[in-house]
Amino acid sequence: MKTTFFCKQINNPFEDPAVYVRLRCLRHTFLFDCGDISALEPAEILKIATIFVTHMHIDHFIGFDLILRLVLGRDMPLTIYGPLGIIHAVENKLKGFTWNLIKDYPIKIEVFEITENSMSHAGFYAESGFEKIVKPELPFNRTIYNEDGITVNAEIFDHGIPVAGYSLSEESHININKDELLRRGFETGPWLTGFKKAIRNNSNDFTVTLNGKTYTKDDLSSLVMITEGQRVSYITDIAPTDENISKAIELSRDSDILYIEAFFLKEDHERALKRKHLTTAHTGHIAKAAGAKHIELIHISPKYTALYTKAESEVLEALEAS
Ligand SMILES: [Zn+2]
Ligand SMILES: [Zn+2]
Repeated sequence: MKTTFFCKQINNPFEDPAVYVRLRCLRHTFLFDCGDISALEPAEILKIATIFVTHMHIDHFIGFDLILRLVLGRDMPLTIYGPLGIIHAVENKLKGFTWNLIKDYPIKIEVFEITENSMSHAGFYAESGFEKIVKPELPFNRTIYNEDGITVNAEIFDHGIPVAGYSLSEESHININKDELLRRGFETGPWLTGFKKAIRNNSNDFTVTLNGKTYTKDDLSSLVMITEGQRVSYITDIAPTDENISKAIELSRDSDILYIEAFFLKEDHERALKRKHLTTAHTGHIAKAAGAKHIELIHISPKYTALYTKAESEVLEALEAS
């Protein structure tokens, strides 16, 4: 079984960055950043279960109101992850409206605020007029989401303020080659569950007796077909510091798709340092060092609107540099 991510960049690279990711089921429809998302259809917005916000600069967060309005009557909760300040930002957005008529609405908003070592958690429920409910703090050890074989790792970068970057990966699928099973004369049975588990955990403890003979995991390796899961990373609005660059490489390592900003052209290197954004050269360097298979440029400064090809060429040049 090969699972596919459906990913789309909502706007063109000179507009607000935002990526819509749809996987197998509703629970796994994600949005990376919520700046201007008016190009999404309402039905697409209604499917968003989880939003991963990098930071609350207006071009990354102004779309929150549009989402809020559409999900108000929805049963499925809305979960939001973001950096330091996200709970305060959501709370204040909600406080900007009057909520005396929504006590019967089902919507629950859960907000997780990622800092260097911990994740604060707050709930905002329509039934309580969206008053903040403080939940127990959780540890932050890079993995912030792990459900149904989907894992999301986060990293905190410096952009003058803390910014979160994200990498979403699918577990690899372990399938049994039925023809090979038949050829070797083995019956299917519960032992296959333990065998798959041993493969997943790379454990050498597994043995099974089949047709009177005992086999180890390695003896049965010809039965296994592994489909690698895919990985999508989203990194934007980070200062071109050595620390940020090495964190970005680590976070996005082996990405199948890397969405990454290329805010400034190389010639504006000084400006990139001051404004705390990457240049095309940094973008190419990160993508190359991370071994990203496919790069999608996001968040190129609108002042280069006629120069997309130049930006792309500079990224390619950095990718080809030794
Ligand atoms: Zn931005
Ligand atoms: Zn920013």
